[in-house]
Amino acid sequence: MARRKYVVGNWKMNGLTGALAEAQAIFAAAADHPGVDVAICPPFTLIGPMVAAAPGGAVGGQDCHSAASGAFTGAVAAPMLADIGARVVIVGHSERREGCGESDADVRAKAEAGLAAGLAVILCVGEPRAVRESGGAIEFVLSQIAGSVPDDFDPLRLAIAYEPIWAIGTGLVPTVADVAAMHGAIRGALAARFGDAAEEMRILYGGSVNGDNAAELLGARDVDGALVGGASLTAAKFVPIVAAAA
Ligand code: PEP
Repeated sequence: MARRKYVVGNWKMNGLTGALAEAQAIFAAAADHPGVDVAICPPFTLIGPMVAAAPGGAVGGQDCHSAASGAFTGAVAAPMLADIGARVVIVGHSERREGCGESDADVRAKAEAGLAAGLAVILCVGEPRAVRESGGAIEFVLSQIAGSVPDDFDPLRLAIAYEPIWAIGTGLVPTVADVAAMHGAIRGALAARFGDAAEEMRILYGGSVNGDNAAELLGARDVDGALVGGASLTAAKFVPIVAAAA
């Protein structure tokens, strides 16, 4: 089945209101590629302003709490994201799994919260360098998939992002063959658990994607798009990646 390509920018903790012009330029250019779904996930502070500045653009959060409300100082709930116009949320990014100690169970609960709030969810998985070097990358990632993917969801609203931790922000990228092997293994695990629905789910690659390597990575089997960090911060760097997906 033909899956629409999906290119998502993760701005991480970058961007003041002056950066909204970049988002406007990105969404304007993305309109030239109607076959590609494009989203930008800015810091929480820019979600509302970005929705207002780029009406029609898919804007998302980079995390959400698993509870809908409560005494969780500093946290943001999925219904709050939806309430200000977000349509997407990233969960399980390695900077949260490793930096904030989030477990597979935590990530699964956050994914369930995002889905319950009506958001599209991008659920991240990926192995550290030592695991890749020991030959255990596929086993490691499939364990994350088993532990963090919810049981019940619309396959068009839950995407997996495979992001090898050692490739994030480093300029290092796995071989296309290794990316295809991992994405095929993820698709196989999803098919074993969810049947035909796995064919509808999008599996994104993330980790040092740029305008020069995007076409090759996005052309690999079972690669349905990209989750992009550094190269998503400006239209000049991000739009070529969107074009490569078209
Ligand atoms: C990311 O953090 O999701 C990411 C892919 O970052 P970069 O593109 O900068 O490697």
